[in-house]
Amino acid sequence: MEKSYDVVIVGGAVIGSSIAWHLKGVLGFTGSVAVIEADPSYAKASSALSAASIRQQFSTPENIRMSQYGLEFIRAAAEDERIGADTGFTEHGYLLLTGETGREIMEANHEIQLSCGADIALLPPEELGERFPWLNTEGIALGALGLSGEGWLDAYALMQGLRRGAKICGADYIAGRVAALDMAENRVQGAVLESGERIGCGILVNAAGAAAARIARMAGIDLPVEPRKRCVFVFDCRTPLNGPAPVPLTVEPGGVYFRPEGQYYICGVSPDEQDDRAAEDFDVDYSLWEEVIWPNLAARVPAFEAIKMVNAWAGHYAYNVIDQNAIIGPHEKIGNFLFANGFSGHGLQQAPAVGRGIAEWILYGGWRSLDLSVFSFSRIAQGRKIIERNVI
Ligand SMILES: Cc1cc2nc3c(=O)[nH]c(=O)nc-3n(C[C@H](O)[C@H](O)[C@H](O)COP(=O)(O)OP(=O)(O)OC[C@H]3O[C@@H](n4cnc5c(N)ncnc54)[C@H](O)[C@@H]3O)c2cc1C
Repeated sequence: MEKSYDVVIVGGAVIGSSIAWHLKGVLGFTGSVAVIEADPSYAKASSALSAASIRQQFSTPENIRMSQYGLEFIRAAAEDERIGADTGFTEHGYLLLTGETGREIMEANHEIQLSCGADIALLPPEELGERFPWLNTEGIALGALGLSGEGWLDAYALMQGLRRGAKICGADYIAGRVAALDMAENRVQGAVLESGERIGCGILVNAAGAAAARIARMAGIDLPVEPRKRCVFVFDCRTPLNGPAPVPLTVEPGGVYFRPEGQYYICGVSPDEQDDRAAEDFDVDYSLWEEVIWPNLAARVPAFEAIKMVNAWAGHYAYNVIDQNAIIGPHEKIGNFLFANGFSGHGLQQAPAVGRGIAEWILYGGWRSLDLSVFSFSRIAQGRKIIERNVI
């Protein structure tokens, strides 16, 4: 007997599982839900390879609101025993640093963040020096510090918790790779797996991360999302960064970020635009460490002159080449094909909000508690970019 579901979600990492959880566990959707996942080990999934941090410091209200829902969700995740995800949320904030040239933009972003209720302080160099005595404030005009509601977590625990909760509430997880979509008259009728098995669907949700464009192409849709490699380096610093405030996730003016991770630190940087191309491989680019990251870290934090890299990995951003923001909701012609794609570097923190938004859209045929219409696929064709100034 051929299997058929009301909702089929392609990709069962943090986004796909959040959609399944919100459908079955939060909204009580009575229809059938299947999540098709090609690699249940999640070894190459961005959700397992991310820097796992959440912030309010965006420049677009929609991104701030999505993170705020994410924050609420993460804080409560351990209390729902069906999810039971103790994500070890460490609320030590983000610290974004800028020189004089970035002052106006930082101040404008701050106004937007305050209007959305984000708890962010703008600090002059003297105050930065007092709170963070390990920081070299030379050339710094301003720092934006998240006083609450920002930090980092165990992304894997969140993803597995959502998956567990969705399964307990009745979602089926199917191990298999979607190789084709069965289309008829502008509708997706089913997903065909590599094994040849066909799974019928009422609605299909694309939650395939960096492989999202491949799934869209199977429906004849051109989705401007491609895999872009991002490397994370782990290092050891023997000298503790002492001070009255805990060490936040710090982004120095050159774009290099670092944050504590257990007894170590993790760090990374986006490659220069001209070197940033679609990439399928997971090879670590060590030249970034040598030529960009270490010199910038050592210049900004003198204790980091003597550090030792102890580990590194590479993952893929599902990079929206148009505006580096999410594409969420239905296709305008193939109405039962829904996107949950293109999150670039901020999909982990947006996963709860996307899960809620897509689940509500499936149930009610429109946006409800979260209006995600600004992220529609149609904005791409209409040339309406969402300009987010804080892309990390
Ligand atoms: C280095 C790095 C650092 C990051 N740091 C942060 C951060 O600090 N904060 C933040 O919010 N975000 C961060 N991100 C982004 C975040 O990790 C992603 O946006 C988020 O994990 C996307 O989740 P996803 O479920 O869409 O994709 P993935 O986690 O990539 O999952 C997609 C899933 O789809 C499956 N799949 C693909 N093709 C098929 C197919 N044909 N059939 C069936 N299944 C398929 C894959 O196996 C995979 O499991 C970072 C990403 C990277 C790479």
